[in-house]
Amino acid sequence: AIRPLVAGNWKMNGMRDSLAQIKHVSESSALAISNAEALICVPATLLHSAAVMTAGTPLRIGAQNCHHEEDGAYTGDISAGMIADSLGSHAIVGHSERRLVYRECDASVRSKAAAAHKASLTAIICIGETEEERIGDRTLEVLRCQLAGSVPDGATAANTVIAYEPIWAIGTGRTPSIADIAAAHAFIRAELSGRFNGEGDRMRLLYGGSVKPSNAAGILEIDHVNGALVGGASLMAADYLAICAAC
Ligand code: 13P
Repeated sequence: AIRPLVAGNWKMNGMRDSLAQIKHVSESSALAISNAEALICVPATLLHSAAVMTAGTPLRIGAQNCHHEEDGAYTGDISAGMIADSLGSHAIVGHSERRLVYRECDASVRSKAAAAHKASLTAIICIGETEEERIGDRTLEVLRCQLAGSVPDGATAANTVIAYEPIWAIGTGRTPSIADIAAAHAFIRAELSGRFNGEGDRMRLLYGGSVKPSNAAGILEIDHVNGALVGGASLMAADYLAICAAC
């Protein structure tokens, strides 16, 4: 069985005083007994402090983006190596907010994921359809294209996690039906297994989009759902821990 991963994504939220939430999560007995691997992806400003604070606990700390180059004249950007140097273990790449707001395309996401791998980070590669694509019955075709374009050839079960986040379900309180999540995840699994064989069979597939304590158990028990990528509900330690406990 694939050990589930509950990944929090704080997005552009969190000041230094929010580190108290991280501390609370990392020291919680609920986390110690949870079957899930726990990760919170914090803003870059908190990355090193959070990672130092949680060293030796079950909670891992990650980043939300990285640049595809190792260094250079890219004002304001952060490389995968810098994330690793700050003791982060994971980097989210290709989140829909970055695809939409910063026009990141599949090729860019793929090079970011490859950069994360080179720095020994685990890349959490996000994919997902818009509401218009869902209504037009193009969801699986969109997922196929995003997987083919965004996942680099060096992807393994250890260095890559795929997060399926329907864009219309993010921050809206709406989620696809259990059957729709099951269909998307089975499709993603088949695509990955076809391309990466055994590595694709074992790669973790997360569902993201309005996951909260009240719906987590139902979503986490779906076939080929190996965890969750949690936005809003990861900001409160109690909600995040309740989702971990649902695994
Ligand atoms: P919400 O959990 O707030 O819907 O956000 C999902 C998300 O975008 C996580 O990356």
